[in-house]
Amino acid sequence: MREITVLSGGMGGARFLQGLLHGIAEGLLPGVAPDARVTVVANTADDLWVHGLKVCPDLDTVMYTLGDGIDPERGWGRREETWSVRTELAEYGVEPTWFGLGDRDVATHLVRTQMLDAGYPLSQVTEALCRRWRPGVRLLPMSDDRVETHVAIADAEAPSGRRVVHFQEYWVRLRASVPAEAVVVVGLDEARPAPGVVEAVAEADLVLVPPSNPVVSVGTILGVPGIRETLRATAAPVVGLSPIVGGTHVRGMAAQVLPAIGVEVSARAVGLHYGARSAGGVLDGWLVDSADADALPALREAGLAAEAVPLMMTDVDATARMVAAALALVAAPRP
Ligand code: GDP
Ligand code: CA
Repeated sequence: MREITVLSGGMGGARFLQGLLHGIAEGLLPGVAPDARVTVVANTADDLWVHGLKVCPDLDTVMYTLGDGIDPERGWGRREETWSVRTELAEYGVEPTWFGLGDRDVATHLVRTQMLDAGYPLSQVTEALCRRWRPGVRLLPMSDDRVETHVAIADAEAPSGRRVVHFQEYWVRLRASVPAEAVVVVGLDEARPAPGVVEAVAEADLVLVPPSNPVVSVGTILGVPGIRETLRATAAPVVGLSPIVGGTHVRGMAAQVLPAIGVEVSARAVGLHYGARSAGGVLDGWLVDSADADALPALREAGLAAEAVPLMMTDVDATARMVAAALALVAAPRP
């Protein structure tokens, strides 16, 4: 296998990609060529405009993580970050004050916003930013079009009893502390896949769905018209890894948003939600954590090749073993 395409969110996807690249570089992945190329289709529905700047959290998390610019403790934003811009903005009393806009990070958003203003599409802007960061993958936004995830939450003071906030406000300001009643992805139905995305899925030798959020990361990528269809039609095997371990997410907020789309918070339910390609879904294989081995009969019954292995991305070696297990799943004869 030489061409590997990964559909990624932010932190879960980035960590997974570190392990994948490590596995390729160290020859830990049977059947994968040492010069295999990785293309990442990243979620852009978390993107927002803040203080006039275009911020793309998932693209930047992948770019900074793989380019060794990430703050490893926080898992997002730049290392050795300072916060003078944020402090100054707060002194002016301008909102929003909850969004973590670091000084170093601001430079990225300034470059991006200037290029967008000059007429470059996000895909070309991302390519330009990656010339500095050299992430070791081809990084593509899922779409050049504006797509934004909004979350409906209960609000006793609102006349409708509900309030809709941008996904970032739900996650960063509210810390996903209230249940999501509905997830609305504005602009998704009219969005077009960014240049290269359809080809990257159609012409891949392997497509991986990392343990990213099934609703607000992978769900939005699959919702861009044309991507799901291409995934269903590609000759490449498609394997996913569960972000839900033992009935909840490892980090993040999948447990808060899965109920909003009517999916139980379990590795089994998420696998069945994606579904087997042989039965109208998007996957051939689904890896669950060893703690969720009881899900295997139902997953296999639904037509998925399924196995239970440790799925904690504690370090790059552990993550590379997860990738090797994902490969073994589609290399082995189907159940
Ligand atoms: P985000 O955009 O930063 O939220 O990141 P992603 O959507 O790419 O990934 C978030 C998901 O990664 C969460 O649902 C977590 O459950 C999952 N995740 C994070 N770390 C791990 C891990 O070590 N193992 C597994 N299986 N899932 C993980
Ligand atoms: Ca995200």
